[in-house]
Amino acid sequence: MILVDNLLIILFFSLILGACGEPVERLPEYELSGQTMGTSYSIKLVAPDQNLDRQTLGVKLSARLDEINSTMSTYRPESELSRFNRLDSTDWSPVSTELCALVADALEFSERTDGAFDITVGPLVNLWGFGPDGDIARPPADAAIADALTRVGFGKLHANCDLPALRKDRADVYVDLSALAKGYAVDQSAELLETHRVTDYLVEIGGELRMRGHNALGELWAIAVEKPQDDTRSVQSVVRLTDSAMATSGDYRNFFEFEGRRYSHTIHPKTGRPVTHDAAAVTVVDKSAADADALATALLVLGPEEGLAFAAREGIAAYFLLRTESGIEQRTTGEFAAMVNL
Ligand code: ADP
Ligand code: MG
Repeated sequence: MILVDNLLIILFFSLILGACGEPVERLPEYELSGQTMGTSYSIKLVAPDQNLDRQTLGVKLSARLDEINSTMSTYRPESELSRFNRLDSTDWSPVSTELCALVADALEFSERTDGAFDITVGPLVNLWGFGPDGDIARPPADAAIADALTRVGFGKLHANCDLPALRKDRADVYVDLSALAKGYAVDQSAELLETHRVTDYLVEIGGELRMRGHNALGELWAIAVEKPQDDTRSVQSVVRLTDSAMATSGDYRNFFEFEGRRYSHTIHPKTGRPVTHDAAAVTVVDKSAADADALATALLVLGPEEGLAFAAREGIAAYFLLRTESGIEQRTTGEFAAMVNL
């Protein structure tokens, strides 16, 4: 899946407080980790039920992640999505309920963001070297961009999940779910944990997170939002959360430079080019990790002005990091500010 290189936008850690006062009892904490979607995952479980078979849970989790990948990865030629993308047909094509539901959700995000979020952007993602075909060294020719744009537009893709089936208006429409698939996988992992009665956990896949309950010290989970820097990893701010999900989109891990300009993997579906404004990263907190993931991408497309106005209007908890001459500036919506103490 496009879920590009190890984009660990968010580091997370537990702070051991207690320099003063009673020593805090540390509950047992376990980690399940591995690789998926071209990145890593890490799942922390705090004091789970003694009868929980963690090894079996780990195997189930990894199998579920693999199943999601073989449904929606554009990096796997035999995934269900890749087969739909290759289909030389404009008829309704039967697909799994899972793929249909995710595409239908994505199309709703397109409507809601007036096309800023658009999973049909795939031909442009690939043309700009951010897809499974690999990197490019310089921007593509204008004619190639114009040509790819004729295949792009969420109105060219249709989902009927009563069937369930998908249909494209042109056979060469190509769907890329990378902007929300990691978040979706985070939600699915969290749901699997819940079916095993795990009530205190932190799920992280490639920087997208969902958490419930408390950490091993009985505190809210402490999440560090990374500073948007290309070369080093440092913390911009720490937020404490529970019972929610958080996703970040940024321009500082997956990009190339040409003649002094940065071209990153967030594509404006109207211009056919990587976005060019000052926002280096956008973090969104929401109940669902898939929604947070899609919204973070959408807000990064919209940029600081339009994106913040949209987030404020829609009541989205959003945190923008802007690259300015005097360094990184932060902007948040009221919902985000109310939730965290920056
Ligand atoms: P990451 O996957 O690195 O966490 P995002 O969630 O923002 O970051 O997803 C970025 C990916 O989404 C790109 O690599 C590309 O595959 C896809 N994409 C790029 N532009 C858009 C867009 N405007 N709408 C939907 N998906 C996009
Ligand atoms: Mg996203």
